[in-house]
Amino acid sequence: MRARLCALTIGLATILASQAGAAGLGVHAVRYVMGTWCDLVIFDPGPSPDVVQSAFREIARLDDVLSSWNTESEVSRLNASAGRGPQPVSIDLADVAAESSALCTSTGGAFDPSVAPLLQAWGFYTESPGLPAPAIGRDAASHVGCDRVTVRRDSRTIALADGAALDFGGIGKGYAVDRALAILRARGVTRAKIDFGSSSLGYLGDIDGGWPIVIPDPRDRDNPLLTLRIPGGAVSTSSQRERSFELDGRRYGHIFDPRLGRPVESSLLSVTVIAARGSTADALSTALFVMGAAQGKRLINRMPGVGAVFVEQSAKGLVTTTAGKLPRLTRLSH
Ligand code: ADP
Ligand code: MG
Repeated sequence: MRARLCALTIGLATILASQAGAAGLGVHAVRYVMGTWCDLVIFDPGPSPDVVQSAFREIARLDDVLSSWNTESEVSRLNASAGRGPQPVSIDLADVAAESSALCTSTGGAFDPSVAPLLQAWGFYTESPGLPAPAIGRDAASHVGCDRVTVRRDSRTIALADGAALDFGGIGKGYAVDRALAILRARGVTRAKIDFGSSSLGYLGDIDGGWPIVIPDPRDRDNPLLTLRIPGGAVSTSSQRERSFELDGRRYGHIFDPRLGRPVESSLLSVTVIAARGSTADALSTALFVMGAAQGKRLINRMPGVGAVFVEQSAKGLVTTTAGKLPRLTRLSH
């Protein structure tokens, strides 16, 4: 199967290389940013190295705003001021918080950036997460909810209720994709791709036949399940396997159901969302993972221009289902 994915990847890479090659050489750069490897490919011929630096500088700058891992980041400083009324914030923090708050409401609290106390209690800000003592878990859960956060985007303030804290791990990489692509566009780049460890991707411009997207088997990422061709925009995938721990035969992952105050445990293995903007794709993939396939499909079918692929474990094996707008989808037979 590894050979098969390899062949598929080489096939797709050849398409891209020939498209880049037709006009001359582009640039492929890789950096470790936002806690993961980020690949940037510019297909336009001869882009200046400065353009690549600008895009990565923007992503690093946003990490300093949005990272809950960095105690000096803007969001960490905001979290330290919980219970002290409205605090002035940067335009980026106001933007991400406003979009997150709106999604908190429209997803019925499935996407909720106020899950930070839960992530903290379960040790997900360390390299060794684990089950919290019941009282600590309950206390953390009591501080979570859309109503614990008041965002005023116009006056650029955020107020957190006492004990509340924000985490933008479910939307930050998608937002960074949007900002980095905006910088490339402003610098005259017409075709580019940004890939954050295959979890959040963004595409600028179009290529013949559309950008190839592979949805892999979440249990074995070398095994492709289906391919799509999209005309640009963004793709994000959420799965518990990215960060999780096992205890007494049960696996607990980093995506929490804010309404239950514990990690999501379901038959869902991964959710991929395709949307025009990276922040939308990223936040919705996390939200749909929490909501589950049935409820998630109802939400997606109400949203124009958004599509989703759900990969579930069933008694008969893997089941892949889709919702919303998904152009040019090919199921691979096994
Ligand atoms: P990835 O980390 O691969 O980008 P996701 O986009 O699904 O994965 O985001 C998961 C992250 O989102 C978690 O690590 C955590 O920081 C945050 N998070 C967990 N549960 C929720 C939730 N219900 N709503 C919003 N953010 C969440
Ligand atoms: Mg997400």
